[in-house]
Amino acid sequence: MRPAAKERTVPELQVATVPVTPFQQNCALIWDSATRLGAVIDPGGEVERILAAITRVGLSVETILLTHGHLDHAGGAAALQRALRRQSGDETAAPIVGPDRRDAFLLEGIARQAAAYGLDGMENATPDRFLSAGETVTIGGHAFAVIHCPGHTPGHVVFFSAEARFAVVGDVLFRGSIGRTDFPYGDHAALIGAITHELLPLGDDVAFLCGHGPGSTFGEERRSNPFLR
Ligand SMILES: [Zn+2]
Repeated sequence: MRPAAKERTVPELQVATVPVTPFQQNCALIWDSATRLGAVIDPGGEVERILAAITRVGLSVETILLTHGHLDHAGGAAALQRALRRQSGDETAAPIVGPDRRDAFLLEGIARQAAAYGLDGMENATPDRFLSAGETVTIGGHAFAVIHCPGHTPGHVVFFSAEARFAVVGDVLFRGSIGRTDFPYGDHAALIGAITHELLPLGDDVAFLCGHGPGSTFGEERRSNPFLR
């Protein structure tokens, strides 16, 4: 009997996380299993470990995506971009894309913030392109909608694949918790509004990866997250 022709009906996205910095931030590698093309999301630091993971999974990095401007998410973006450009010999490789422009002041203050925390090796990040709500980015050829979710930071964005039923939510929502809003620029009502009106309606079945700790699904959080009651 002849085996059936291989059909590509379900997106073949693969995800690996590398917890980086003393904040144990989940830097994410996401790629298409067939082409190995993909993105690094939120390279906060420990770039050597991220590079080792990229090599280990055989990822060819098309883009460095940022959910928001905090140092533990963006502090390694510049160094990662330099390393990938050196490796490839391509001066335009691995553009830094996102977050929304309203986080520019945070990206420009990373080195100062890191010094205040006594952390080495974190640099300001300069996006090659900021993102806006309603845009689409592609990761290994798979479309991810850009959703603006302010509150934790003013320019925080979330990446959502409708076909894979998967989202990368940064520090907006966690398993059993939500992002901090006790910063001068934090906005608790905006954060709750973004989760309630932008994320949960995407569907209970949507799995998400967050910036710290284990992931979950929107359905599980809608049912049990004490901050969403
Ligand atoms: Zn944050």
